[in-house]
Amino acid sequence: MWNWMSELHKFLFDGMPVRGSIVRLTDAWAEVQRRRASNSETGAYAPPVRELLGEMLAAGVLMQSNIKFNGALVMQVHGDGPVKLAVAEVQSDLGLRATASVQGEVPAQARLPEMVNAGGAGRCAITLDPKERQPGQQPYQGVVPLQGAAGDRFQSLSQALTFYMLQSEQLDTILVLAANDQVAAGLMVQRMPLQGEANLAGAAGPGAGADQNGHNEDYNRIAHLAASLTREELLTLDVDTILRRLFWEEKLLHFAPQQGAAGPRFACTCSRERVRNMLRSLGAEEVESILAERETVEVGCEFCGQQYHFDAVDAAQIFTGPAELAPGAKTVQ
Ligand SMILES: [Zn+2]
Repeated sequence: MWNWMSELHKFLFDGMPVRGSIVRLTDAWAEVQRRRASNSETGAYAPPVRELLGEMLAAGVLMQSNIKFNGALVMQVHGDGPVKLAVAEVQSDLGLRATASVQGEVPAQARLPEMVNAGGAGRCAITLDPKERQPGQQPYQGVVPLQGAAGDRFQSLSQALTFYMLQSEQLDTILVLAANDQVAAGLMVQRMPLQGEANLAGAAGPGAGADQNGHNEDYNRIAHLAASLTREELLTLDVDTILRRLFWEEKLLHFAPQQGAAGPRFACTCSRERVRNMLRSLGAEEVESILAERETVEVGCEFCGQQYHFDAVDAAQIFTGPAELAPGAKTVQ
């Protein structure tokens, strides 16, 4: 039995330098897909692209929820295959949105390299864009390699991100990601540095070297268990069942899930009103010339794919209706 509300669960392993989180996007994920599917210019995502975007969103939520930062985490893939651009954005309040631009056919079984790294020129970046940027401050950007040190192209997003976390963030990480048309989900287990404020395991008295990547036995055991989670299990089981199956022998501190207004949810800043204002600033002449060629003006949001339609009657209202009056003004009869 699982929840139809998107949720984020965090947990710690008692006395061990290991933390984890699970995200399940359901209603938020449905909204991402609905907006795209109802866009007459793009149509729905091809299943492999949908899978990639769902995994990007799940990973984005897991990463965003692990950092103390006020702003947007933006994961962006510039592809050299049929997927030209894929973007997933997660705000610190876990509001999220995603989009992708695709050219040409995406084979049904396409994996990451065929979609975005066909010629080895695909690029992936993670940007942290602070909400209140100081003058001259640049957003932080990390580059996620799409191939390993030996030039072998990563077959999945989780492979690329795991490599990135270890190389750039010096964090041992296990990441399992999966998405279908119902759910976009992810499990992340991470070793926490023993030194510093995040240290929860001081009392455990780890031996020398336990604070180095790959050298903490507790982490290695838990990571091994976490990595045994299959995509199928991640997509179909509820969070409590997953945690019980994987870690039934471990002492788990499971925090109350974040859901609803405190959890991951769809959020885009676009609205019909904003598009109205945009059309108004374009001018009556311009809008009428579009309407002379086609029945409606369609404006798609570049961040979520939502399409807004305006026919001749709507357009007439924009330019002659009461909206033209300054706020608070009254119509004089
Ligand atoms: Zn939008």
